[in-house]
Amino acid sequence: MNNFLPIAYFQNKFVPFNKAKVSIATQALHYGTGAIGGLRGIPDPQNDKQILLFRLDRHCQRLSDSAKYLHYDIPASKIRETIVDFIKKNQPSKSFYIRPLVYTSGLGIAPRLHNVEKDFLVYGIELADYLSPEGVSCRISSWYRQEDRSLPLRGKISAAYITSALAKTEAVESGFDEAIMMNSQGKICEASGMNIFLVRNGQLITPGFEQDILEGITRDSVLTIARNLGIKTIERPVDKSELFIADEVFLSGTAAKVAPVKKIENYQLPESKPITTKLREKLIAITENRDPDYQDWVDVIALE
Ligand code: PMP
Repeated sequence: MNNFLPIAYFQNKFVPFNKAKVSIATQALHYGTGAIGGLRGIPDPQNDKQILLFRLDRHCQRLSDSAKYLHYDIPASKIRETIVDFIKKNQPSKSFYIRPLVYTSGLGIAPRLHNVEKDFLVYGIELADYLSPEGVSCRISSWYRQEDRSLPLRGKISAAYITSALAKTEAVESGFDEAIMMNSQGKICEASGMNIFLVRNGQLITPGFEQDILEGITRDSVLTIARNLGIKTIERPVDKSELFIADEVFLSGTAAKVAPVKKIENYQLPESKPITTKLREKLIAITENRDPDYQDWVDVIALE
């Protein structure tokens, strides 16, 4: 059972979650003309009257940028204020995931972005671990990530998630936990909702922005943390064959945090994952506001 937070933001006001309903003719439902955000909120382990949000400003800016592709002007500050109010109204007591959405809310049959109404909504759902922290098995998907020339991949455009859904279901139905997609050039791109990293000879490697990846906020955080720890990092194209012989592979994302990969296709990866473990622990400490060096990445929301 899904545990949704009781209050949603919908059509410019806060309403009970189960009263937030759209028409069957909503344009975005038919054409995927929406863009999503996704961030975690956790009760402050040091003070249960506070909620911690990780890199809220980056998440709001990315959604505001995604909205531009939909010809919808919504400032990051408006998204931010709504999310903060949303949390205060809901008074969450467990870890949760916030899902903001911008979408074409007008009714009609023409796939277009001009002359169509837009809306911004927010709802929340309780969420513990999305992928096992013990490690996941991955299939190399037969579905390829889209190309930026067909779809603005820097935005989290709803329509793009058909590929993620195809890849994830293909992986799970064939006995794996997650899918790793290649891009149209046959280079490793990312997982169904996470970026990918590998470690070879002590160096942390991840595909660069030119590889049609999503500009992941966790990816950016992991790269910064690694550099500050003195780990060498490089953003470059990655071949499939490199994954099979990597010392460590992990996935990064808001929902997945840092999730170790233990197996890819028929290749078992080494059990020892010192860099993955170090980065995962550091990231979790930062999100729980236990690391004084990264406090500017954490917003503390007081529940009155
Ligand atoms: N790739 C895709 C396709 C995603 O949906 C996500 C989740 N937002 C990510 C990567 C990871 O991004 P982030 O670290 O910002 O959550």
